[in-house]
Amino acid sequence: MHTPSDVLVVGAGPVGLTAACQLARLGVRVRVVDLLEQATTESRAVAIHARSMEMLAAMGVLPQLEARGRRIDALELTDGRSGRTRVRMSLAEAPSRHPYVLDIPQPDTEAVLAERAAGLGIVVERGVEVTALTQDPAGVAVTLRSAAGEETARVGWVVGADGGHSTTRHLVGERLEGSFHGQTFAMADVDVETSFSPDTIRMFTHPDGMGILFPLAGSRARIMFFVAPPEPGAGDPTLAQIQALADARMGGRVTVRNPRWLTYFEIHHAQVPRYRHDRVLLAGDAAHIHSPAGAQGMNTGIQDAANLAWKLALVVRGHAAADLLDTYQEERHPVGASVVRNTTLLTNVGTASGVEAAVRNAALFVAGHHHRISDAAATRMAELTVRYRDSRLSVQHGGALRAGDFAPDPVGLTRPDGSPVAVEELLTTPGLLLLARGPADPLREVLGDLGTVLEVGADLLDPADSLRLGAAGMMLVRPDGYLGLVADTVDPALLRDYVAGVLHVVGEPSVG
Ligand SMILES: Cc1cc2nc3c(=O)[nH]c(=O)nc-3n(C[C@H](O)[C@H](O)[C@H](O)COP(=O)(O)OP(=O)(O)OC[C@H]3O[C@@H](n4cnc5c(N)ncnc54)[C@H](O)[C@@H]3O)c2cc1C
Repeated sequence: MHTPSDVLVVGAGPVGLTAACQLARLGVRVRVVDLLEQATTESRAVAIHARSMEMLAAMGVLPQLEARGRRIDALELTDGRSGRTRVRMSLAEAPSRHPYVLDIPQPDTEAVLAERAAGLGIVVERGVEVTALTQDPAGVAVTLRSAAGEETARVGWVVGADGGHSTTRHLVGERLEGSFHGQTFAMADVDVETSFSPDTIRMFTHPDGMGILFPLAGSRARIMFFVAPPEPGAGDPTLAQIQALADARMGGRVTVRNPRWLTYFEIHHAQVPRYRHDRVLLAGDAAHIHSPAGAQGMNTGIQDAANLAWKLALVVRGHAAADLLDTYQEERHPVGASVVRNTTLLTNVGTASGVEAAVRNAALFVAGHHHRISDAAATRMAELTVRYRDSRLSVQHGGALRAGDFAPDPVGLTRPDGSPVAVEELLTTPGLLLLARGPADPLREVLGDLGTVLEVGADLLDPADSLRLGAAGMMLVRPDGYLGLVADTVDPALLRDYVAGVLHVVGEPSVG
């Protein structure tokens, strides 16, 4: 017998676990089920980008992830035949507290998130599969099948984070739309010996198909090659086949051994038209699938979860009207569409031959000699260009910052005792975060238990005005790190309008 849950999260992959942790932190009762008896050991997504790290830091799990991963300083496009660099994109100048990629096998990421979930009182129920679902205006009835039999659970909301073959997606009558021609990759989780430096992710261009090398901790690495589909019944690739591909397409500079996982996998490029189906919300691979080029899949999903969770928490707790959830679709669907487009382009760029390859090489030559172009590409890959300036949740009343952008997190902020502090650290306190240069008490009265108000100059010191609040001003940071309201005054009426008129918060938030 389970205590009643507000939200059922279907799938304990990285996206489901992120959603569950964020919901639980915000006081929502969450139940998480996964059809697998044991968490997977397959490495799959191995790169965590800067924007995801910023969000994972606010969840309090980044140090644990860093302890298991390897920091990567640059991304390189390398000529697969000669091994020569075509263009190197340094991450050092990326506008983030985390100007690097964290390479870490997906099971480690999931283990850290599952630990965090356990700390929040969530026990992932394994061997439990969602098989049916019906919804009415008041809730969702979900059929769960396990070795113990079949159960019908009633919950308020369902987050479908059940991956590329999502049952939840199917049950709400949603379909992926896109290209299903299929592209096949041969993939290997191995130890490598290589003269390439381990601080760089490399994508090798080659007319037969690109290769990708992700260095992991120690001598471990994940490598992938775009290949022709294997003969039916051919089984997994052998280590010798992977070595032959590496010899041909990685400049003859990579030797593989100790295989942990060798497989072929086929990718498609597609996205669902609607992320929200009333009380059922789709996130991660359930909503979008695409090439692993650029390592965007898990990152985009983690950011979907962060975007959705705080909104769903406000609705579940009765603070906000359900139409706040439409902004999940409005903000995240275009991001997913752009990821599907760009990863398709990147895969084609890596695999071009003939005239197309000559054009590509010329473009890469130009990019390689103009740091602004290569830095911009690295920033995009790190998902640091994602912003919601046109969202109805982004409201501007003057001020130097832009509503809808990610909140700045400059070095130089301190607590009154002089100890350094980061905005992402302040976000570990659940709820909205209002930073104001000006009297905080009237703002606290408006925000009530929706979040925390910190007065810059009293609770937080910023002598160089690196937060760019000027002589007076405020910024409301959403729990996913984006700026909701930016103003050049600390007028409580503006905050009240935002909370009631934009977030559609119902009634007065209680104080204290
Ligand atoms: C072979 C392979 C290699 C990949 N390589 C990369 C890469 O290099 N880089 C990259 O960025 N991405 C890669 N990806 C994609 C990446 O793994 C996904 O983007 C990421 O796992 C998405 O996370 P998710 O939580 O949305 O889904 P998943 O990780 O797929 O998790 C979904 C979970 O839902 C559970 N589930 C499914 N159906 C049900 C049901 N009916 N009831 C209950 N539970 C259910 C599953 O058991 C699973 O645990 C790869 C994927 C594959 C398959």
